[in-house]
Amino acid sequence: MVSKETSEQIFQRLKEDPLNNVCFDCSSRNPDWASVSNGIFLCLQCAGIHRGYGVHISFVRSLSMDTWTIKQLKIMTVGGNKALADFFANYNIPADLPSNISKYKTRAAQYYRDKIKIVAEGINYEAPQPIQEVGILPIEEEERKFPEPPRQQAEQSSSGFSWTKTFGSALTMTQNIGKKIADKTKEISQKPIVQEWEAKTKQAFSAAVEKTKEWSEAPSVQNIKEKTTNAIKEISQSSAVQNIKDKTKSALTSIAGKARETYDSIHSRPQDQESSQEYERLPSQENERLPNQ
Ligand SMILES: [Zn+2]
Repeated sequence: MVSKETSEQIFQRLKEDPLNNVCFDCSSRNPDWASVSNGIFLCLQCAGIHRGYGVHISFVRSLSMDTWTIKQLKIMTVGGNKALADFFANYNIPADLPSNISKYKTRAAQYYRDKIKIVAEGINYEAPQPIQEVGILPIEEEERKFPEPPRQQAEQSSSGFSWTKTFGSALTMTQNIGKKIADKTKEISQKPIVQEWEAKTKQAFSAAVEKTKEWSEAPSVQNIKEKTTNAIKEISQSSAVQNIKDKTKSALTSIAGKARETYDSIHSRPQDQESSQEYERLPSQENERLPNQ
């Protein structure tokens, strides 16, 4: 916190710019209030309207009655009525709009608030400034607000802390977020541009299917198919192929005969017969391992 003297000295200096000496919204003289988050000076009435927007849109302080932090004073110094008026002018949002029209709830305004907050800390603000068409769109306020628990739960929790209630409100919150995502997805999928693309994709796909069918049925393709089948048939029946087939068959038969002969000669050797009988006479290892009972 900064002493009242210091903050008043700073406001005096800032008000040396005549634009800071009128209410940003209604131009009435010698404003005694400010929207810190928007970095502008306001009269009492307009400050009241700003309070109605909620602190996420406009954080209101009295120049004379409230105590100020250094950071808040830095934001006012970085901002000021002229800077915001110039900024709004880029988006064709005139500075003298009645304040009930919520130029403060646009994406451009949100960008500006984020920017002066960062710049006031001496850091460059890197985020790209929204283009005109995007800047004039309203911000999604639900995204920035913490969902409120149902009234009944809020009252109960004042009588004591309970994990069940905490869990309950966390669950409700999760469900709310889930529903919002589902609604958003539905909303996007129903947008004319999305619908249009979907229809176009379907159209292109069925056209491609039609085309493939058409080609495969084309006389030239049919002709090629037929010719290929005939050629394969012809080749397989040609005398050269028949000859190879016959030769392969007789070679295989002779290899099989040789294999049979070799097998028979090995198994008819007397010493082999003996050793195999000996092996059969040996007690199996499993029997040896059995304990004596
Ligand atoms: Zn005013």
